[in-house]
Amino acid sequence: MTRKEAALAARFEEQANRFDIALNNMSHGLCMLDPQDRLQVWNERFLELLHLHGAPVRVGMRISQLVRHSIRAGNHKSKSVKQVINDLARGLREDKFDQFYTSVDGDRTIALSRRMMAGGGSVVILEDVTERKRAQERITHLAKFDELTGLANRTQFRERITAMLAGVHDHEHHITVHLIDLDRFKAINDTLGHPIGDKLLKEVAFRLSTVIHPHDMITRFGGDEFVVLQTITDRRQDADWLAQRLARTLNEPFEIDGHRIDIGASIGIAMAPTDGIDADELLKKADMAMYAAKNSGGGGHRFFAMDMEEAVQERRALELDLRDALGTDQFRLNYQPLVDLRTGRVTTCEALMRWKHPVRGEVPPAVFIPIAEETGMIVALGEWALNRACVEAATWPHGVKVAVNLSPVQFRDRGLALQVVTALAKSGLPAQRLELEVTERLLLEDNDGTLATMQQLNNLGVALSLDDFGTGYSSLNYLRKFPFHKLKIDQSFVADLGDESDVRAIIGAVASLGAGLNMTVVAEGIETEEQMKLVTTQGCHEGQGYLFGRPMSGEAILARLETPISLAQMVA
Ligand code: C2E
Ligand code: MG
Ligand code: MG
Repeated sequence: MTRKEAALAARFEEQANRFDIALNNMSHGLCMLDPQDRLQVWNERFLELLHLHGAPVRVGMRISQLVRHSIRAGNHKSKSVKQVINDLARGLREDKFDQFYTSVDGDRTIALSRRMMAGGGSVVILEDVTERKRAQERITHLAKFDELTGLANRTQFRERITAMLAGVHDHEHHITVHLIDLDRFKAINDTLGHPIGDKLLKEVAFRLSTVIHPHDMITRFGGDEFVVLQTITDRRQDADWLAQRLARTLNEPFEIDGHRIDIGASIGIAMAPTDGIDADELLKKADMAMYAAKNSGGGGHRFFAMDMEEAVQERRALELDLRDALGTDQFRLNYQPLVDLRTGRVTTCEALMRWKHPVRGEVPPAVFIPIAEETGMIVALGEWALNRACVEAATWPHGVKVAVNLSPVQFRDRGLALQVVTALAKSGLPAQRLELEVTERLLLEDNDGTLATMQQLNNLGVALSLDDFGTGYSSLNYLRKFPFHKLKIDQSFVADLGDESDVRAIIGAVASLGAGLNMTVVAEGIETEEQMKLVTTQGCHEGQGYLFGRPMSGEAILARLETPISLAQMVA
């Protein structure tokens, strides 16, 4: 060999080496066959993916001979390896050959593709596509199942109900939709945290699935809303029975991470074909029924009824009227005194909104305030009340404060503190004479924004009162965390004072706790002298109620404030 030849040979070998390294470090299995299907080049990965490592494979061996090796190597049990090679041998006349195989252990998925080369012969590539396939399957799963609970999701529900409704026309066959909404989920999620909320939802899903029949479907619609699709032949009784079982299983307490959780659920039921044969219509009606169940205290179920639809329409009409009312001077404020229980002196007057509709007449705040809140109109309405109350209070004797109710929705609006400052500035009322009443509902939204706004108002010198204490998710922690000056015990406690002795104890405990935290404690809804005496002995500082004065017009309250009357006169 000349030096030149030797150098060339060396270079050749180096290149072959590199080629070898590249080939054997590929994640793909690869082989090249000549036009007679004889092996020319292959890599380790190729043998590995076919479970042929260690087999005496050599250049020029026919592809069909590999089958024999695979059998000898003990791989004959696995159909797939033999199949790969058989398919290869068979498929050689096709231009393009693509196939998926399962590995020997059945655990992995191998993709095979073969392409013809220009000069005859072919290239075969094997690839382990297990992960890719799993990811794809996961995507397909996610599209149809709820990730948290593993239940079917809305999409799958829709497919199923659509298919089922197609068979419902004959009236022989009925479907029932049970829409389940948990009663106190938001409060639990907010106070105990999302990880516990998630665990609770999983447990709810589990309990629901133990109650339903295998033919029925249970879906999580999102949040704390679940839907059960029940197929039945006999009508209402079956639906009634299932709904009772669903409600009962959720009314049982849950035990999660050491917390005992009482949640309960409201269930609304709509049936096809009676209530409709359209998926959306059924869901809408089940939703109305669910609201009716919720409004009657929760923890139970309701069937859809026509009057629910009427109620929804009535509400919509009210909403439209409320929009008109905003611009047309239909609102007034009434004022109700809060009196010092020792002296009878009026300390504060609470502004209570009144709506007089030209046709409907007086609409109670319990009706229109929730609508105004849901539609966001409360922001403008509340601003009006704030301004009006400050203007009127500025004409009162200086020792008397005015209390204005604020909705949580107003707190969500960033401009609240500015609205308050503006109302004070325009009316000339000192901040110390304004009180703002909020309910526990606000504190449930317990976020940094709420606390910051409350602090801002506090810094202005405005006092905050916790209204209707005892009706919501009463947590004494709130009292420490938020800067309240006043605590108003809800009127339902006072109403129960006569016949329940533990109510007395509750009022006493709340009063001493409030006093300990430097708060003025007010008992709401005092109608009788007896109630007045009881709350006074339990330690309440102030009282509010018909006994001391009903809500009255601006003129009437001014007259009352200008000629004070004694406790004895009020009671008489
Ligand atoms: P609230 O703030 O707890 O107001 C006290 C409610 O109890 C008033 O009802 C009042 O008339 C009533 N009340 C007072 N004393 C007695 C009594 O001795 N016996 C009985 N049975 N009831 C008594 P009203 O005026 O119907 O207001 C209901 C609720 O509407 C208020 O409860 C408050 O939450 C809301 N509200 C009223 N005005 C406004 C407002 O301007 N803004 C906001 N956001 N809410 C308001
Ligand atoms: Mg109030
Ligand atoms: Mg109240």
